[in-house]
Amino acid sequence: MLRGVQKHFGALHVLKDVDLSIGRGEVVVLVGPSGSGKSTLCRTINRLETIDEGTITIDGAPLPEEGRALARLRADVGMVFQSFNLFAHRTVLENVTLGPTKAKGVKPAAAKARAQELLARVGVADQAGKLPGQLSGGQQQRVAIARALAMDPKVMLFDEPTSALDPEMINEVLDVMTALAADGMTMLVVTHEMGFARRAAHRVVFMDRGQVVEQAEPEQFFAAPRSDRARDFLSKIL
Ligand code: ADP
Ligand code: MG
Repeated sequence: MLRGVQKHFGALHVLKDVDLSIGRGEVVVLVGPSGSGKSTLCRTINRLETIDEGTITIDGAPLPEEGRALARLRADVGMVFQSFNLFAHRTVLENVTLGPTKAKGVKPAAAKARAQELLARVGVADQAGKLPGQLSGGQQQRVAIARALAMDPKVMLFDEPTSALDPEMINEVLDVMTALAADGMTMLVVTHEMGFARRAAHRVVFMDRGQVVEQAEPEQFFAAPRSDRARDFLSKIL
């Protein structure tokens, strides 16, 4: 998926020759210290950031530069952020139907039916008529997941989706993500929730200072990280 990717912000070299592939149905958890480039890497995949060198492909096709193809790419790559980014003045239901109706030309009735199904799947069907601000953080984040799923993405990117949540709400969001993973969704997840990584990830990728330092199955990574940098990182968070 990513090959030889280089990215600078001015003099700062944030992605250094990054190679990363995610197979269909694979769940990859991306970990690493703050500032190591995890968010930037996610953002390059739906082209919220451009890259300086290298290639990124989805299903073999290079990322489009602009226009309709770029809009289609954004639909193919669902993204869930730390801050839920819901439309504050739209109802929960509208938050989920807007993308499909505006960007994909789905008929309102079909979009509504699908949104209700997705809201039920993430456990907030009874909140459909409310505004996001009337929901708890955990409920809002589950709506954000439903909104991303409504576009029928090929891959879902999660950038620290539980970092802004109160502790008691973290698991309700992780449970939705775990179910999604079990359903076969292709996922790249940046998280510090190592319990989730252990139970849901097929592979853990450890980044430090812009480089992919190590990749392994979760059991191996947590039990016996190969690099000093990963060992040091794990000693601080576990
Ligand atoms: P992480 O998500 O792992 O914490 P980021 O990808 O957010 O790391 O950031 C990697 C580095 O790039 C950091 O040093 C950060 O300050 C810098 N950075 C991120 N976004 C920008 C930007 N838009 N302009 C300049 N520097 C940035
Ligand atoms: Mg980040």
